[in-house]
Parts: sequence; C-alpha cells; structure tokens
Amino acid sequence: METENLVWLRNDLRLEDNPAIYRASKNNPIRIVFILTLKQWQHHNVSEARIGLMLDIVKNISMQCNELGITFDVLKCNWFSDIPEQLNNYCHAHTINELWFNRETPFDEEQRDLKVANLLHKFNIQVNALAHDLIVSQPVFNLSKKPFKVFTAYYKKWLLMLKNQNNNVLRLPNKQAQNVNNDISLLEKHQFAYRHDLWSPCIDKINSNFVTFCHKKLFTYENLRDFPNTVGTSLLSPYLSLGCLGPRTCLHQINSTYKQTNGEDQKNWINSSWLRELAWRDLYRQLMVHYPYISKNQDFKAKTKTIPWREDEIGFEKWCLGQTGFPIIDAAMRQLNQTGWMHNRLRMLAASFLTKLLFVDWRKGEKYFMQTLIDGEFSANNGGWQWSASTGCDSAPYFRVFNPTLQSEKFDKTGGFIRKFVPEIAELDNKSIHNPTSIQRQKLNYAETVIDYKTARLKAIEIFKYNNSQ
Ligand SMILES: Cc1cc2nc3c(=O)[nH]c(=O)nc-3n(C[C@H](O)[C@H](O)[C@H](O)COP(=O)(O)OP(=O)(O)OC[C@H]3O[C@@H](n4cnc5c(N)ncnc54)[C@H](O)[C@@H]3O)c2cc1C
Repeated sequence: METENLVWLRNDLRLEDNPAIYRASKNNPIRIVFILTLKQWQHHNVSEARIGLMLDIVKNISMQCNELGITFDVLKCNWFSDIPEQLNNYCHAHTINELWFNRETPFDEEQRDLKVANLLHKFNIQVNALAHDLIVSQPVFNLSKKPFKVFTAYYKKWLLMLKNQNNNVLRLPNKQAQNVNNDISLLEKHQFAYRHDLWSPCIDKINSNFVTFCHKKLFTYENLRDFPNTVGTSLLSPYLSLGCLGPRTCLHQINSTYKQTNGEDQKNWINSSWLRELAWRDLYRQLMVHYPYISKNQDFKAKTKTIPWREDEIGFEKWCLGQTGFPIIDAAMRQLNQTGWMHNRLRMLAASFLTKLLFVDWRKGEKYFMQTLIDGEFSANNGGWQWSASTGCDSAPYFRVFNPTLQSEKFDKTGGFIRKFVPEIAELDNKSIHNPTSIQRQKLNYAETVIDYKTARLKAIEIFKYNNSQ
C-alpha cells in the first residue's frame, strides 16, 4: 500500500493557503482528518452557533476534497485526552508515517498536541507541528528578546517582520486521484443551530465576501468601523476565527485592492487600518503562548488579581438579556443573542458596562460571550475582555469608564441601531431614544436603568485606584 501523509485540520479550516496541507502534499499523497470533540468544546464554552457553523464548513471542505481526490475522514472523541490514541490507531490503520498540523496557541490545545506527538513518536510516526496560524507566525520580540506588552511597539516590529517574510499564497494541493466520495455521516448526526441566513458555510461564498469587502469597504473602513448601524466592517470574524481565510490570502487581497487604486495609495497597503486589526488578533494569539497563565482564567496584570468583583446575579442576568435600561447596551446584547455576533464598538461598551459599572468579574462576561458568539475565539475574546476590564495587556486605563449614553449619542446618533434591536422604544425621538425619561419607560414598558452611571463610575475608579496603589 502506498504511504500517505496525514493532515489534521483544527481551527485552520481551509485547503488553500494552509501550510500543513501544502507541505504534507509535497512528496506524498495526503489524507485529511477532522476530529469532533464535542464534550471538550462544550467544556471550553464554545457556542452552539460556532459548532454549527464549524461543522457545516467541515462538510464543505470534505466536498472540496471529493473533487481533489483527497480522502477526508471525520473522527469522534469526547475529550482532547482521547485524541492521541485515536490518531495513533488511525495512522496504523492507514499506513501513515507522518502527521502534519498547524499549531494552535491556547494552553489546552498545546498540551493536546504534545501528548499526540509523544505517543506517535513511540510508534515511529513523525509529527510535524508547523508554526501558529498567524499573519506573522514567528515570535515578535523586542530588543531584549522579550514579548511586547504595548500594542504600538508590537505593531511596529510586526510590520517590519511582515515586510521581510515570504507572503506568497500557498496553492491548493494537486488533484490526487479520481474523485473520492467522502463519508461525512458522522457530521450529519449533529445539528447545532445558528443563523444560516447570516452566516454562510460555503467556502466560495466566504472568499467572495472577502473580495467584495476589500473592493467596496477597505478604504472606508477607518471612518465607518465604529458605527454599528452601518455595515462598515468585514463581518469575517466567524471565518477568520475558524481559519477559513489564510493569512497570506488576506495580505494578497489587501495588496491587490490597493494596487487597483493606481494612485499614491497603492504603496500604502501595509498601513491599511483593517490589516492593523489583524495585528491585534496576532498579538492576542501570541500572548497565549508567551503567558500560558492567561489560558487559565487569570488576569494578565498581577495588580488587578485582588479586585473585589461583585456578585450581582440579577444585574448580570439583565445584562445578558439586554434589559439594563441603557438602550445601547440592551441593543448590543440583543444583537448578540439574536445573531451570534456583536459590533466591536458595542463589545467594548457592553464589556465596560459589565465590568466597570455593574462591577461583575470579567470572566463571567467572557464566558457568556464565548457561549453565545459565532466568532467566539478564546484569545481575541479573552484579550477584548481583559482590555475592557483594565486587567489585560495594554488595556484601557482603569479610569476609562465608557458613558453608555454619550457613546450612544456619538456612534448611533439617530438611534437607528437601537430601534432595530429595542423595538419597544422605537417611536422615541432621536434624542430621548438614548436615555428615555421615567415616564417614557413606563409608557413603553421599557426597563428602568439597573445602575446610576455617575455613582457606579466613581465607585469603580475608587476600587481600581486602591488596588493599583497596593
Ligand atoms: C469584549 C470583546 C470580546 C471580543 N471577542 C472576540 C471573539 O471572540 N472573536 C473575535 O474574532 N473577535 C473578538 N473581539 C474583537 C472584535 O470585536 C471582533 O473581531 C470584530 O468585531 C469582528 O467583526 P468583523 O469581522 O467585522 O471585524 P473587522 O473590523 O472587519 O476586523 C477584521 C478582523 O480583525 C480581527 N479583529 C478585529 N478587531 C480585533 C480585536 N480587537 N482583537 C482581536 N482581533 C480583532 C478579527 O479577526 C476581525 O474579523 C472582541 C472584542 C471585545 C472588545
């Protein structure tokens, strides 16, 4: 029997621009596996929406494999700890001498991979763990060979490394054999609900959405990205978080969009503000590697570990349901609950509200987001929460407590976004919609505010100040 190399797909769900697939298929035919680990994912709070989208994307990839004559198998385990033995058995059943994968950054995933490597080495199966799936996959260190803790300095070095690395898109593997007919019946057994009308699992559609975003919105992104009632951002986070778009593909598309402008702008692609957001994504992923304690529910900053967060089950529940009485916060949370996605500006406001005004532990918000977001990604979510709670790397200063009403007036000026998600107050005028009077609230059956902003803000600042001085 001819030897094949095995590629294990995880959160790099794509065939093109995938280093593991590209390298594994250079000398030998490949087969690909994906491993369902439902219990582990649920233990990691992965949302139903994300699992549903992920499994549909996996089906899509298996169909692409049919056309390329690549065998694609789905295996099933409960926990990461069951994987080494499953993979070992699989390798022996199929004359496989080499396993290939792209590394992931969170601690549990790293440990899982080490255990796989340890077991397979004992059976003389070579394990090729490639670099993390990032735009700049090499560690970005300062002159003292230490990780950066400030984004601007990190970003400067990141851009330099980006310019000096090979950014060629890695092509699809060649067709290997006649068409195969991959069996995905294991996936068909599981149904996880998500908004199919909003999030397509089709790889061609994902790619074409990305190209359209670049053509139509890349240059307006900087000005429109903060306004939730406008589609000014890419809406690609569910796909970027599952690895459906390769890093070099992203760079290539940004570059070629700039080139098509034919003006001065074309040299400027590297300064694209959208690309800068991908640098944040890289930073948060890299932090997981350099500071594994972040993966274990801990504050990034030592000083904030003693913050006496409040137990406020009622406030927390109102926040989750979008019933805080602050229209912009409620609209944000209802957008999350109804679509599985929330606009970035609103994520910052909702997280600041929970941690600085309700003074509830950021870990509770982080968990709720993970359990609800279709793009829930451990590193970006943890980074965003710790940034908002002022416990994280290069986070918001502790005295920065967003005023929900002012933010609402600024970023949803005419209240269009609020009207969409908080229909009970839709009839209010453009001014009062941001903060209805008590009479309006009663008449429209809309909640009273769960806290008094000024008092809650001062209290939060006082506690943070005390902790910082210790
Ligand atoms: C409290 C909080 C929680 C968050 N949780 C997640 C999460 O679970 N998953 C997630 O992908 N993003 C998360 N973010 C970051 C950001 O809000 C989303 O990536 C963004 O809103 C997704 O929409 P988009 O694809 O239209 O983004 P765009 O504005 O088009 O940005 C393009 C891509 O850049 C990346 N990106 C953008 N902003 C950030 C950021 N601040 N940090 C890291 N990566 C970023 C994402 O991959 C995003 O898809 C969180 C932010 C906060 C404040």
